[in-house]
Order: sequence, then structure tokens, then C-alpha cells
Amino acid sequence: MNFYYRCTECARTFRRDEVRYLCPDCGKLFQFGLPLRGVLEVVFDYDGIRKQFKKNQPDWMLFSAVEKKYFPPFPVGNTPFIRSERLEAALHTKNIWVKYDALNPSGSLKDRASFLVVAEAIRLGEDRIVVASTGNAASALAAVCASAKKQAIIFVPEKAPKAKLVQMFQYGAKVVPLKGVYDDAFRLSIEYTNLKGGLNRNSAYHPLTIEGKKTVGFEIIQQNQFKVPDVIFIPVGDGAILAGVYKAFYDLKQARVIHKIPRLVGVQAASSDAIHHFVKTGKYRNAKHPSTVADSISVMTPSNAFMAHSAILASKGFTLAVTDEAILKAQLLLSRTTGLFAEPSAAAALAGLQKAIRCELVEDREQKVLLITGHGLKDIDAAMKKIQSSEKRA
Ligand SMILES: *Cc1c(COP(=O)(O)O)cnc(C)c1O
Ligand SMILES: [Zn+2]
Repeated sequence: MNFYYRCTECARTFRRDEVRYLCPDCGKLFQFGLPLRGVLEVVFDYDGIRKQFKKNQPDWMLFSAVEKKYFPPFPVGNTPFIRSERLEAALHTKNIWVKYDALNPSGSLKDRASFLVVAEAIRLGEDRIVVASTGNAASALAAVCASAKKQAIIFVPEKAPKAKLVQMFQYGAKVVPLKGVYDDAFRLSIEYTNLKGGLNRNSAYHPLTIEGKKTVGFEIIQQNQFKVPDVIFIPVGDGAILAGVYKAFYDLKQARVIHKIPRLVGVQAASSDAIHHFVKTGKYRNAKHPSTVADSISVMTPSNAFMAHSAILASKGFTLAVTDEAILKAQLLLSRTTGLFAEPSAAAALAGLQKAIRCELVEDREQKVLLITGHGLKDIDAAMKKIQSSEKRA
């Protein structure tokens, strides 16, 4: 394989099997309760790729950090990318596109990360894969593991939406429900792999989670005929999806397939705004009391805060914080103009676009893409709240 790992902090490089998770130097600075340090990124042979990559017949394996022969038999990705003129009319603007990643097999974009980490587990001969999750990463891992005859071991807050918990059991995972929040699950899962082994799939802790998530960026560019969109709205919890989308465009730019990177807009829930605050002030602090209907982006300490912060700045993008009320309204609006159902965290992307339009941060002619990361049926209680109040008014 023609790639190596590079530390995003000290730039030290490593061969593929020399490291597994964080940079051995910078990783020592990591403390529970603060974002990860020494997250690794994959660096490809971009000159080599440039000579081989063809837009009319793209070989995306050139940008893959795991060989195809290790891929599990699981139908990840290839989700729809559509324009919505009804949404454009509702928002009095033009050029709105939706990448509906809810149509992954387990109903969220997390399938992409789980897919690549399970492929890596197959390569390494690891039979147990461990994850801390607010819900979707766990249901995704459980699903991919089932297809590959691997054991998923899951640390999840017991308050996760019921459908997500049902999925984990349905696919046959070992589930450890916790009284605490996602941040507690994160700590326990890392202690588990430190003591008992197995492969840890925590967001950004395993560098291939970011590599897995980047495939959504490749699909967007291919479905958009290799035209680079102007702005992409991305719901942000840990910041791994955002870093993954950035990595897709970064890889393509390094290989000179494209010549610019879209502005990436990270959208957070108001009570879970650590990355938003970091971008706005330049200073990191945890979110104080994450309590939002958008459970998938509810996090006190975003594990990938530093990388997400640099990606947003490098793309000349920005961040926004949106209220639960705005998220639930956007969830309903999306469904009633496009026929697509998004879980609240995913609908945050639309709430972000609405706010960006109000604040004149985007223009009508610019191509605006909403990344819809998870399916609405994963959390029907959240949707019920808004439906009931809107029926009452009607
Ligand atoms: C995980 C998730 C996010 C946020 O992704 P991060 O990598 O944690 O920033 C957004 N939406 C959905 C539906 C998710 O499952
Ligand atoms: Zn380092």
C-alpha cells in the first residue's frame, strides 16, 4: 500500500503497521475530558495517483487505506444526491442540494467509518471491535460486524434513542449500556481496549474512521460531475465527519483532480458547541451541559476538535450553533419539501443553512450542499414533538 500515517500535530510519520491509534509522542498529552491529541492522518502518494486517476472512470481505491480484498460484504454508500427546488423556494434562494446519507444500510453515515475499520480488523485478524457511541456509530458497527462475522462490543449511554439500541441487539452486538453520557462511554471503551485488546473504532481515535467517512465527499464530487460545490453544511459532534469531508477534498486537491476546496460549515447544537466556540474565539473549552434533542451531536468534549478546527479554517468555512427549536422545525421542513426524513442531528444541517441565509453568509447562486447524516426513523419521539405542535396549530 502506498500510504503512511502522519501526526496532525508534530508531523512525525509512521509506516502502516508501526502505529494503531494516536501519535505515540503527542498521544501522551491526551487526557480524558479533553479532545484527542496526536490524531493521525493518512498521506497518499499524490503524484502517483495523479498519473493514474481518470475522472471518466474514477478508481477510488487509489485513495483507500485498506485493500479491497479485506472489504466486508456490506453495501455501504452510493447514497442519493439530489437538488430540491421546493426547498429552494421555501428558503427564497437557489441551488440547494441534498446528500441523503440516511440511506446507508444501518441508516447513517457512520456505516462508512465502521466499514473501513472492520476491513482493517479483517486485515489484522482482530475478531473484536470496540466502540463508544451516542448510538449511530454503534448500530453501524454492529451491522458491519454481522456481515463480517466479527464481534462488536459497544459502550453506549442507556438514554440513546430506542431504535438505535434495538439495532445493536438486532445485529448481534455485545452492548454495555451506561448511566453516563457519551464522554463516559468514550473513556470506558478506551480503557477496555487498553486492557483487553480488540480493535478500537472510536471516532478519530482510530485514524481510519476519518478515512471511511471521507468517501461521502468522493461521492458528492462524482455525483456533481467533478464540479466543486461552494458550501457544504455538516452537522458536528466529535468533528470526525467534518474532518473526513475535508480529507476527501484535500486528497483530490493534492492529486490535482480539483483545484479548490468547498467552504465547510460545521453546525452544532447550541448546548453542544465546543467546536463552534473554538472557531469563534480561537480558544478551546468543553461544552458545559450538552442536552439537545440532536443526540448524535450531543458531546461535551469533541474528540476531534483540533482537526475539525483546522479543517474549517483551511476551507475558509465557519461554524454555527442552532437551537433545538430550529432543528425540529428544519426537520419538518425538510420532510415536507423533499420527502426525506432526517434525524434531528442531521436536520441541524438545514437549520444551519437557514441561519446562514439569514446572516447573509451564503449567496443565492452558490451551490449549497446539505449533508443529511442519519435517518428520521431512528428517533421518532423527537419528530413526534414537532408534529404534535404543528397539528395543534393547524
Ligand atoms: C455521528 C453523527 C454526526 C456527527 O458526526 P461527528 O463525526 O461526531 O462530528 C452527525 N449526524 C449524525 C446522524 C451522526 O450519527
Ligand atoms: Zn505527534
